[in-house]
Amino acid sequence: MSSTVQQTNPSANPIVSTMKALVFRGTGQIRIEEVPMPKPGPGEAVIHVTLTTICGTDLHILKGEYPVKPGLTIGHEPVGVIHELGVGVKGYQVGDRVLVGAITPCGQCSFCLSGHWSQCGGPIGGWKFGNTINGAQAEYLLVPHAQANMAKIPDELRDEQVVLLADIASTGISAAESADLQIGDTVAVFAQGPIGLCATAGAKLKGASLIIAVESDPVRMEMAKSMGADVVINHLKMDAIAEIRRLTGGEGVDVAIEALGTQATFESALRVLRAGGTLSSLGVYSGKLSVPVEPFAAGLGDQKIITTLCPGGKERMRRLMELVRHGKLDLTPLLTHTFSLDEITKAYKLFGERRDGVIKIAIKA
Ligand SMILES: [Zn+2]
Ligand SMILES: [Zn+2]
Repeated sequence: MSSTVQQTNPSANPIVSTMKALVFRGTGQIRIEEVPMPKPGPGEAVIHVTLTTICGTDLHILKGEYPVKPGLTIGHEPVGVIHELGVGVKGYQVGDRVLVGAITPCGQCSFCLSGHWSQCGGPIGGWKFGNTINGAQAEYLLVPHAQANMAKIPDELRDEQVVLLADIASTGISAAESADLQIGDTVAVFAQGPIGLCATAGAKLKGASLIIAVESDPVRMEMAKSMGADVVINHLKMDAIAEIRRLTGGEGVDVAIEALGTQATFESALRVLRAGGTLSSLGVYSGKLSVPVEPFAAGLGDQKIITTLCPGGKERMRRLMELVRHGKLDLTPLLTHTFSLDEITKAYKLFGERRDGVIKIAIKA
């Protein structure tokens, strides 16, 4: 909980409340620090974070692969209780339980008003928490554009049932939505990490006839089946491309989902795609990504290659929570471990090393 410390400088605000937060101090350096409590300005809110998690993207930040400013609190998957409301935030009360998406669009800029909420203000601009503003791995979190971004959690849902909707489930499920997956389509999903597993669930929700998951980790292979995969191919033990072609009568799949962010998986996804099919890419790539000409049919194959950043905003969160509430989606098996905020650096180590069958870690503030 928050504590109160007396400042020594009498000219400054004499009393500053502080809280615990995980602060990024540079490549390889994160630690729990006492930082000032946020205060909500007009249109903003502060929530007391009750549950959050660690994302693969946070590992990229820690390794210096995705640049954020040292001094920033990271994390972007918040479930909490409203602690304080800024002026002008209507329809909420202090004490309301809310889910806030990893992506917090303003709802007013040209990108938002063109339907590209995640690109609010410009490329990747919808992603603010733990990227351009302080994030969720803290006791309290300032929510920008609060009116557009706080989704009330139905009483019957526990925090653990909804926390993964903030990012990985919203992102994973979006692969099939962005691909405009049709009932009866065949789908291949490359990699069954947290996002790939949610992409598998999304393909099932959208009515795929055959879902083929590609993964070599035994825990994730098993989890893929429970999330909706009909066939799981271990690409280290067999030629995944040949097997997917065989399973689809030689034609290839209607939709190939890339859920890792490597040249190899991107290329494999292209190689199993039927003429006219859609490659739906979720991975975060680094370096250079190239398109081999032969599976691209020299540019004449009528394939689509689409990318999706996590969809956010309160209406997205509400819809996803309804799927959970009505028993269509259960993400709790993915939460394999629980740590307190105080122990979060240990959780990072476990998550980063992928030890102990870890998929996602619940962090209780
Ligand atoms: Zn994330
Ligand atoms: Zn916007």
